[in-house]
Amino acid sequence: MKKFDVIIIGAGASGCMCALACKNQNIAIIDAGKSLAKKIMVTGNGRCNLTNKNMNSSYFNTNIDKYLQKFNEKDALRFFESLGLITYSDPEGRVYPISNSAKSVVDVINLALKNKGQFFAGQKVIEIHHQNDQFCVLTDKDEFVAKKVVVATGGSTMQNSIKNLDISFKKFVPSLVPLECSNVKDLNGIKLSNVKVAATTKSGKTASEIGEVLFKEKGLSGIVIFNLSALFARERVFEGTVQIDLLPDMNEKQLTELLMTRRSLCVNVDKFFVGMFQNAVSNEIFMQSKLNTNKNSAKLTNDEIKRLVKTIKCLSFGVVNCYDNNQVFSGGVCLNDLDNHLMSKKVKNLYFAGEVCDVDGVCGGYNLQWAWTSGMVVGECL
Ligand SMILES: Cc1cc2nc3c(=O)[nH]c(=O)nc-3n(C[C@H](O)[C@H](O)[C@H](O)COP(=O)(O)OP(=O)(O)OC[C@H]3O[C@@H](n4cnc5c(N)ncnc54)[C@H](O)[C@@H]3O)c2cc1C
Repeated sequence: MKKFDVIIIGAGASGCMCALACKNQNIAIIDAGKSLAKKIMVTGNGRCNLTNKNMNSSYFNTNIDKYLQKFNEKDALRFFESLGLITYSDPEGRVYPISNSAKSVVDVINLALKNKGQFFAGQKVIEIHHQNDQFCVLTDKDEFVAKKVVVATGGSTMQNSIKNLDISFKKFVPSLVPLECSNVKDLNGIKLSNVKVAATTKSGKTASEIGEVLFKEKGLSGIVIFNLSALFARERVFEGTVQIDLLPDMNEKQLTELLMTRRSLCVNVDKFFVGMFQNAVSNEIFMQSKLNTNKNSAKLTNDEIKRLVKTIKCLSFGVVNCYDNNQVFSGGVCLNDLDNHLMSKKVKNLYFAGEVCDVDGVCGGYNLQWAWTSGMVVGECL
């Protein structure tokens, strides 16, 4: 049995930040994986979008202001700078290491953690018991004892390991994930830029975003779709619709005028959108407009033009599920059950940091910022 003052379970972004912030040296960091902060390597397409200069609670499912007041994006940038990391931000405020390599972030974390506590790699925590003010942490290889435990295990199945501690979890569901949609097969591979996408959930909640959409064999992907997937995730049901306005910069009147003049192209209707939309997109518009394409464009009636306009402004797809390659999980331990230091209100000295908390943000560096913020908030009070 190994004895420590503090045990941090999970050496991801939040667990590492927690260890770095912790003044106590007698800490054990336990992770099922082989190395520290390994997931950071895949973030931001290998570039690691570590935070965002536009940071506030509106980018998250819940209010995290009181935690951001303790450690926000500016604090995170100062902190990483003090570790040697040089960063830059893009026009949307997304911050990346200047090397454009997530490995730089992992490397500075590893360097800084060199003499901090002991790292136990390749050990999966199976159970945690709490007895006489002590926690006993059982892994698949060893047994650890400490007065304080931090759970920083991301969106894993950790709730099974602590079910005897009476901590309630909101069910984890995938978020920031491609949406599985019906009838998209014919558009597979198509990329649409500067379109406005509106999502409506089964219960009628709506949200919209402008940007790029990618069609996959069974659904839709791209940052806009990832962000809208959060709407479905927070309702716990991936059912509803996605409607795409293909030309958001034109109103219906302008578009109607444009299509009226295009009648004079005098081409067969199936060529009506040549020079305007890709073929597969045109076919989808005709299909959703229920239009007979077997005639000359000059013969398009006003009613048919109206139907085409409606479809171009509202190309619809049914959402039937989500993919399984999500970036984050929505759900976890509710902030209401945690105090200002993210300690459980029910179990003293049991802390939670990172994605295991019921905090999820949109794309753009928000989820890592929560990992840094929560890791720092917990680490500082250990
Ligand atoms: C492909 C991808 C790209 C992303 N890009 C970005 C981005 O650019 N910007 C951004 O802000 N966010 C991004 N994210 C989200 C971000 O990575 C997470 O929000 C963040 O890593 C969460 O940190 P965490 O410490 O809570 O959990 P994690 O990083 O998941 O770490 C949890 C750790 O706990 C360990 N663990 C789990 N269970 C156990 C157990 N029972 N015993 C022992 N160890 C255990 C795991 O091995 C893991 O190392 C991305 C995610 C993905 C998947």
